[in-house]
Amino acid sequence: MTGPDTHFAHHSAGIEAVISALGTDADHGLTTDEASERLKHYGKNSIGQKADRLALLILFEQFKSPIILLLLAAAGLSFWFNEWLDGIAILIVLIINSLIGFYMEFQAERSMRTLKQLSTVPARVIRNGQLTEITSDCIVPGDLVFAEAGDLIPADGRIIRLSQLQADESPLTGESMPVEKQTDALPAETALADRSNMLYKGAYISKGNAVMVVTGTGSSTELGKVAGLVRAARQTATPLEKKLELFAKKLIWITVVLAAVIFIIGLLYGRQLVEMLQTAVALAVAAIPEGLPIVATMALAQGMIRMARQNVIVKKLSAVETLGGTTVICTDKTGTLTENRIAVERIIPAGDKALQNILIASVMCNTAELNPQGGEEKGLGDPLEVALLRYAAQKGIDIHRLRADNPKIAEEPFSSETKIMCTLHKAANGNTVYAKGAAEELINYCSHIAEGQDEVRLDTEKRDHWLKTAEEQAASGLRVLAAAFRKNADRHEKLPANLVFLGLINMIDPPRVEVRPAITECRYAGIRIVMITGDHPATAINIAAQLTIADKNTGVIVGKEMKEYGQLTAADKDRWAATAIFARVSPKQKLDIVRVLQEKKNVVAMTGDGINDAPALKKADIGVAMGIRGTQVAQEVADMVLKDDSFTSIVLAVKQGRIIFDNIRKFAIFLLSCNLSEILVIAIAAIFNLHFQLFPIQILFINLVTDVLPALALGVSGGGADIMKRAPRDVNEPVIDKKHWKMIVFYASAIGLTSLGAVLLSHQLHHHSESENRQLCNNVLFFTLIFCQLLHVFNMADSRSAFFSSEVFKNRYVWIALSASMLIIFLVCAVEPARNVLSIQGMSRADWIISVTASFVSVLIIQAVKRWRIIND
Ligand code: ATP
Repeated sequence: MTGPDTHFAHHSAGIEAVISALGTDADHGLTTDEASERLKHYGKNSIGQKADRLALLILFEQFKSPIILLLLAAAGLSFWFNEWLDGIAILIVLIINSLIGFYMEFQAERSMRTLKQLSTVPARVIRNGQLTEITSDCIVPGDLVFAEAGDLIPADGRIIRLSQLQADESPLTGESMPVEKQTDALPAETALADRSNMLYKGAYISKGNAVMVVTGTGSSTELGKVAGLVRAARQTATPLEKKLELFAKKLIWITVVLAAVIFIIGLLYGRQLVEMLQTAVALAVAAIPEGLPIVATMALAQGMIRMARQNVIVKKLSAVETLGGTTVICTDKTGTLTENRIAVERIIPAGDKALQNILIASVMCNTAELNPQGGEEKGLGDPLEVALLRYAAQKGIDIHRLRADNPKIAEEPFSSETKIMCTLHKAANGNTVYAKGAAEELINYCSHIAEGQDEVRLDTEKRDHWLKTAEEQAASGLRVLAAAFRKNADRHEKLPANLVFLGLINMIDPPRVEVRPAITECRYAGIRIVMITGDHPATAINIAAQLTIADKNTGVIVGKEMKEYGQLTAADKDRWAATAIFARVSPKQKLDIVRVLQEKKNVVAMTGDGINDAPALKKADIGVAMGIRGTQVAQEVADMVLKDDSFTSIVLAVKQGRIIFDNIRKFAIFLLSCNLSEILVIAIAAIFNLHFQLFPIQILFINLVTDVLPALALGVSGGGADIMKRAPRDVNEPVIDKKHWKMIVFYASAIGLTSLGAVLLSHQLHHHSESENRQLCNNVLFFTLIFCQLLHVFNMADSRSAFFSSEVFKNRYVWIALSASMLIIFLVCAVEPARNVLSIQGMSRADWIISVTASFVSVLIIQAVKRWRIIND
């Protein structure tokens, strides 16, 4: 391929030179073949993502697990002692085991890939001379990208064609004014912010359209460099996975010691070396919960996919974990709690002539557009501004005409910091400034008021009157906007100054209906809701009261009275941490609120959509960006993106987070208690020199049928009835704490002892001959353990719900798993060689009855103890 020269100074060269340096064609773009070649060479156009792991590598890594090495050693020993059948059987189990491990890990990896695809944005490129849509991560240097108003710039590029192009480059330059673009070459030393012939990844187009030739992708884009997101070589394990891995390692050591002790005891009893070696291996195999970390990963990844189906894209595995521990949700109001279907309700003009001017101001001081599409007009831009346009059009204003006759000369765009917006327009009789914004802000720039037929001075009395009116309107839940203008404006004068106050605009933005129940759910779940809005405090209180976030008398903290973080006293912080509504807040103050809440040991989820929200989103434990309203920058730094912008999705995600964590814990408790019961039985048999013992191959078989399928089914359980009725989990608590260890030991004892009891019973009742004894007792033990463990799945249900209506009992995967396990057991009993390998003899009917009954007894014992709260889960 003709490799593009990516070190070329693209802004200082002419278009043709740039095109040829990038080895592409100005009209036809790259060919598909060339593009895929380049994709291989330059990698994906994404920042900080690792390459997918090869399937072969995953398979290979299975053999690094200690369990596999242990099994290899056991097989070796068997061959050494000429136990061929055993050796082969162990090898088969080894292969099955590593295949299962491989499959699970491969699934987890695939889930992650699916998720990555979900969170990529589409982009339009010209390839083979045709405009096609691809995912933006497949863009390569030399591609021709077409973008128009509202589109995000997916990579860095040099503009080669444009029409009325304006771009917002604030993520890169911090400058929130849209900048005009052009195609001429610039001096080489031109600073990034002034390169008017370039478009950079992370910026977006606010007006017009363009075709650019891509000069840089992925981490070699300017955003990639600023973001400083170092390409992670390996996806780091989540805290939970790390905890589990560490935990599994600890268990290995404990097991090794235990195995050694039992080995020595056996030898002291005068048992054979081979037999004792086998027992030691059996013990080790029984004890290691090899599936633990990987099933945790899988449960997390599956959870992410489930959430994605419900409009929540979780970008980091670790976020799923944190979600479940969320104690405070800080949410903005507009669009998240409300519909964001803003409509103008009425206009309150200051005087007779003011109404028309308010309508004109709301069209002029406005960057949105209404485009005819089909039968209706489609709004593009800020919903608030679109609403203003719709209203003006309804009132007979010819928007296009008005704008064409009075072109915009200058603009002071709206920002959440100033809360006002001004524009300067050319008019027949001199220039005019139009302004709109939050009433209490805009009025500060007004010196006059358009009262009656004239303009009179805006004295304190009038000022207070209008502020009070705005306040009252806000208190009834309306969004209030003030409008102002200045005729005969001087081009060089500051825009917001000496304005004439025109009146107020009332808008409605109803709360979303589904939010209220979600808030109630949060209350039961011990999660606090804090509303942080740029809107008027009175509007905020009204909406908060409607949604039951707070009542009408709750205190509000207003942005103006908020001190800088460094100056906060302990009392201030306490007050902040206890407040449910923050109004007229700037994005920077959002960051301070997160800090204070975190200092008070909260796990904070915080929503945001603007570029300025990025620091607060990053600082929050869970940064939540909006999928529809959110800028790509907000989406990039967030841990989670809500495709539908709705608050309910956050609650849903928190619930999922809790369920997933619960499932992982259930799974771990199940696995550990099963394994411990085996250890217990082996240890008791060895220490008391009983006449029967489990064989390694039997243990392997038990783990295969009881651990894999039922445990996996537990991993996808639906969550207990009370999942959102208990307080958030402390994120620092271990997966398995002391209380859980007690439970595990109890479960294991119940299972182990009932199994041993079953053996003793059948032994006593049937008086088997000496020769039969050893074998039959072993078989009864083997099957009772299996049945106990299979039924033990049901003990994992939340004891607060009734046994037969618990989430585990109703989980169809549990039933599928149990049926599959039973089928395997049946097959093994029916096939002669399998029977021989597992040393299965024909058990009498009485033995079967004892075995099955014992397993139900173990469930009864455990359920009784759990329900009488002798041991709490
Ligand atoms: P939230 O932060 O919950 O989304 P919000 O949308 O009201 O609430 P901002 O967008 O920061 O927050 O707006 C703050 C205030 O600025 C609004 O209450 C309104 O008075 C004013 N405002 C909003 N949009 C515009 C705009 N396009 N032009 C002029 N003023 C605006």
